Amino acid sequence: MKKITIAIDGFSSTGKSTLAKQLAQKLQYVYVDSGAMYRAVALYTLQQNLIQDTILDTESLIKHLPSIKVTFQYNESLKASEIYLNGENVNTEIRSMEVSNAVSRVATVPEVRQQLVALQQQMGVHKGIVMDGRDIGTVVFPDAELKLFMKASAHTRAQRRYDELIGSGTDVTFKAVLENITSRDHLDSTREDSPLFKAADAIEIDNSNLSLDEQFDKVLALVQSKL
Ligand code: C5P
Repeated sequence: MKKITIAIDGFSSTGKSTLAKQLAQKLQYVYVDSGAMYRAVALYTLQQNLIQDTILDTESLIKHLPSIKVTFQYNESLKASEIYLNGENVNTEIRSMEVSNAVSRVATVPEVRQQLVALQQQMGVHKGIVMDGRDIGTVVFPDAELKLFMKASAHTRAQRRYDELIGSGTDVTFKAVLENITSRDHLDSTREDSPLFKAADAIEIDNSNLSLDEQFDKVLALVQSKL
């Protein structure tokens, strides 16, 4: 069976990872959450006090890069991969608001991107991969057979993220979530290195008014057309 590369990009909280996981499960492909990798580096940056009030000590972070090891390990009982930072499982910690508020600043650093993009490309050499992020169809896998670009209104996205965070027991306000999403979108789309934009050959999916099943059926038909 022919295997392809599926690149899913888009704004924050557009449901990229939900769709990517559904596809990977259906197709028996590897799923990689590239955002988790940037979050792990952001967590390291916070742990080492290299960022304070969004002021990042870029020079020190670059010096620390050789000692930042980001890996994934499959968890049999969860039936999902979990992310490790220097051997420690940080799957939950990387979802905190503190990390969310730091990550897009960290992701502007070209040296950080180079290190993570090289890892991502390695993971995709054999195809049969679904990766979601901001630059997957434009930088990581410009030759991906299927590229999707996900959109939804800021309010819809903030509501989804807020429900998710509250559901996982995080004490957060809707306003803080909306502000975080809007500010990450701005930083992600305006940074110099690998900004978020829709690749010319990406298919746009606005899921503001689509159910998960409707979206999945639509995308599955696109996948079948590429196989
Ligand atoms: O996907 P997620 O929202 O967890 O990503 C967190 C942040 O990581 C994004 O807001 C963005 O700043 C950065 N990121 C990136 N390139 C990617 C994936 C994520 O710059 N491919």
